[in-house]
Amino acid sequence: MTEIIDEAMADQPAFIGRKAQMFPQLTPAQIARLEALGTHSRMSKGEILTEPGARNRPMLVVLSGSIEVVQTGMNGEVLVVVHTAGSFTGEMSTLQGIGSLVRSRVRDAGEVLVITEDRLRTIIQTDAELSELFMRAFILRRVGLIASQAGDVILLGSSYSAGTLRLQQFLTRNSFPYVNLDVNTDPAVQTLLERFHIQADDVPVVLCRGEVVLKNPSNEEVAACLGMNQQIDDVRIRDVIVVGAGPSGLAAAVYAASEGLDVLVLETGTPGGQAGSSSKIENYLGFPTGISGLALAARARVQAQKFGAEIRTAYSALKLNCSQRPYAVDLCHGSAVRARAVIIATGAEYRQLALENASRFLGTGIYYAATATEARRCEMREVIVVGGGNSAGQAAVYLAGKCRHVHLLVRSKGLADTMSNYLIRRITETANITLHTNTEIVSLDGGEQLERVVWKTGPDHVLVTHAIGHVFLMTGAVPSTAWLKGCIALNDKGFVRTGTDLTAADLPAAQASGGRPLQPFETNWPGIFAVGDVRCGSVKRVAAAVGEGSACVQQVHQALHD
Ligand SMILES: Cc1cc2nc3c(=O)[nH]c(=O)nc-3n(C[C@H](O)[C@H](O)[C@H](O)COP(=O)(O)OP(=O)(O)OC[C@H]3O[C@@H](n4cnc5c(N)ncnc54)[C@H](O)[C@@H]3O)c2cc1C
Repeated sequence: MTEIIDEAMADQPAFIGRKAQMFPQLTPAQIARLEALGTHSRMSKGEILTEPGARNRPMLVVLSGSIEVVQTGMNGEVLVVVHTAGSFTGEMSTLQGIGSLVRSRVRDAGEVLVITEDRLRTIIQTDAELSELFMRAFILRRVGLIASQAGDVILLGSSYSAGTLRLQQFLTRNSFPYVNLDVNTDPAVQTLLERFHIQADDVPVVLCRGEVVLKNPSNEEVAACLGMNQQIDDVRIRDVIVVGAGPSGLAAAVYAASEGLDVLVLETGTPGGQAGSSSKIENYLGFPTGISGLALAARARVQAQKFGAEIRTAYSALKLNCSQRPYAVDLCHGSAVRARAVIIATGAEYRQLALENASRFLGTGIYYAATATEARRCEMREVIVVGGGNSAGQAAVYLAGKCRHVHLLVRSKGLADTMSNYLIRRITETANITLHTNTEIVSLDGGEQLERVVWKTGPDHVLVTHAIGHVFLMTGAVPSTAWLKGCIALNDKGFVRTGTDLTAADLPAAQASGGRPLQPFETNWPGIFAVGDVRCGSVKRVAAAVGEGSACVQQVHQALHD
């Protein structure tokens, strides 16, 4: 699997020339292997096999006749492909059991081999050759749908609106194809505004499947309308619930699912966590030329789903109930899910700028991530990056390639104590980055959009005003543990204490059930673990988070065995 759904790929269709991998023909021997797991079905001309949004669809292997696949949009249908004998239907959503992105219809009557979603997963987990063939085809097909810039999901927004940026991030990071129209510049917008009775101050608006009009919707509303999640089964008791789909949670999901555990992953935003907001991670083992956080997250998500982990996006855990067994996690949607073990992988959130009006400019000049989505808003402009850590260094180097000039602001005297050498060297060698030490932003000013920034600099705190409208804040993080209060032992900064970090006062809860010695990632409740950035004492790096998430699964087995 060499290609993956990636923001960069949506811009540069790397799938071109890969049609044979996108739509491979199965050999008679491969079809014979599939026969054992499928059932035969006749299909008649004109029959609709799938509509956009339909969940839990089987994969169909065409034995005779043909199936046409089309993308539906405002201007009618666009043909994607015609599957003939030896070809098969499906893309990533088929494997995930979530809403279809396309319509498929019988073009010529014939016969298909129907492989249900469960059976498809069995094949992917047990047949190495077909697994690679299907996974590659599914991923490339999704990349193709994203790159087509077509479909029946339209985001009407403004590049001056924070809500628009949030929705762009949500759809992009979920690898969901959509058409992006700017109300300020796109000529096609007026007709849509009139047709759907949308006022200018309703934006951002998501036109969902060409029918439902969502005005400034939450991520949850968009996910529900687009069928991004499977129906949640709140009766089933899982082996393990992983809360948080950053690198640590995704690693835990991959290992737990691949070792046969029934795994549910809950994610407030989109899989990838903090790493998903990095333009390029260069120190993660195995990627000598670096990898964007988005691509890493997309790979990990597909890998976890391949092994059967269920991932719910835009699903927040509101509260952990540790006093009942199995443990219950209350969801933002009002229901609760239960499991015999829980892995807390909720990481950390970026520290906000302590200025009164900073939140007013969120997304309209203040950003907490530096990927292609944000960079598009400040192409060839002057920007400010605040922070002295690796994330700030990466952001500065990345933005220097897109923007006119980058001002890197740090409160300290230099970068040596906080940033990796390779990044310091790159910053020094990049002509359009200026490092400002002993410098701090003191005020922000503007109308709808951030327009001016005042910073104080040097030992004399000289105030300087700059007409700069884009500030990237990379100033460290605080743990996402509010949902654990009253249940899990935290340190004074709010990080989860595990293993030997637990104090005697924390222990009665654990000792009360079994007296088994606590495992290194176990919290003060047996069978509840914490991994990655959320854990007190953890190394705040992708590799460390992945390592902890993976290693923790062995301890989960032990707890489930007790
Ligand atoms: C811009 C940037 C660049 C970076 N670059 C590098 C780098 O080059 N190399 C490196 O090694 N490290 C880098 N890091 C650090 C690295 O990304 C983190 O150490 C790593 O992401 C931690 O992973 P995690 O899974 O523990 O937590 P996170 O990545 O923080 O993920 C936690 C997830 O939990 C979700 N969540 C939170 N609360 C809830 C809830 N109640 N319910 C459901 N879900 C919830 C969040 O939405 C999030 O997706 C960078 C960080 C940033 C921000």
